[in-house]
Amino acid sequence: MITLKTPQEIEAIARAGAVLARLFEAVPEHVRPGTTTAQLDRFADEFIRDVSGARPAFKGLYGFPKSVCISVNEEVVHGIPAERRVLKEGDLLSFDAGVRLDGWYADAAITYPVGEVDAEAERLMQVTRAAMLAGIAAATPGQHIGDVGHAVQRTAEAAGFSVVRDLVGHGIGRGPHEEPQVPNFGRPGRGIALEAGMVICIEPMVNEGRSEVRTLPDRWTVITADGRRSAHFEHTIAVQVGGPVILTAIPGVDPPGAAG
Ligand code: MG
Repeated sequence: MITLKTPQEIEAIARAGAVLARLFEAVPEHVRPGTTTAQLDRFADEFIRDVSGARPAFKGLYGFPKSVCISVNEEVVHGIPAERRVLKEGDLLSFDAGVRLDGWYADAAITYPVGEVDAEAERLMQVTRAAMLAGIAAATPGQHIGDVGHAVQRTAEAAGFSVVRDLVGHGIGRGPHEEPQVPNFGRPGRGIALEAGMVICIEPMVNEGRSEVRTLPDRWTVITADGRRSAHFEHTIAVQVGGPVILTAIPGVDPPGAAG
C-alpha cells in the first residue's frame, strides 16, 4: 500500500532529512586516507544522536550491526564499517545514512572521493549524481515509476556505465522502506503513476562495468560481480504539484526545491 503524506507529514520527514543534510556536509572533512570506516560510523552515530530525538535509522535495521553503511570501491551498498577497513588515497567511498526523528524516516547517500581519485572515478561519481537528479526531475504527478527509472538508466548508460538492477529505491515515511519500489531502470509510462504526496527515495547504484552484483559471506556487503567500482547517490524526495522537493537537500549543493 502506498501512503500519501500530508504537507505536515512531509515537513516532519524534511526535519529528519535536514539532519542528514547537515551530516553529509560534515562528513567530507573526515574522509581522508588513513581513516577507518569504523571511525566514520562513530562520527555519524554521534552526530545524529546529538540532535534531540534523532536516531541513526540503520542501526539494528533487519539486524544491521552499525549506524551507517559504508561501501568502498567495488562495494556497491550495505558495507559494514570496520576498524580494519582503512581508507586509501584514490578510494571511492559510498556513505549511506538514515535518520529517524519523531517517528519519521529520511534516507540519503553520497559517494565521496578519498583524496585524489582518477578521472574515471570522478566521472562515475558525476554521472551517478546526474542520474539521480534526472530521476528526481522525472518524479512529477502523472509521470510513472518507469519514467523515473528510465531517466536514471538513460543517464547512466549514455555515459557507458550500467545500473544495478537487484537493488531499488523505495517509498519512505513512518517506515524506512515503504511501497512503491523505485527501480533505477524502466520504460516510460510503465509502473504506477506518481501522485502528489508520495515520498520516495531515488538511489541509483551505477557500476563502472557490468550491472551484476553479488553479496559477500558477511550477508550484507553487496559488491560488483566483475570487481569494478560502483557509486551510489540517494535523496528522499516528495512528489508535489509544483515539482519534486528534495527533503534531504544540502543547501548550496542540491537544487533547493523543484529539481531541474
Ligand atoms: Mg534507501
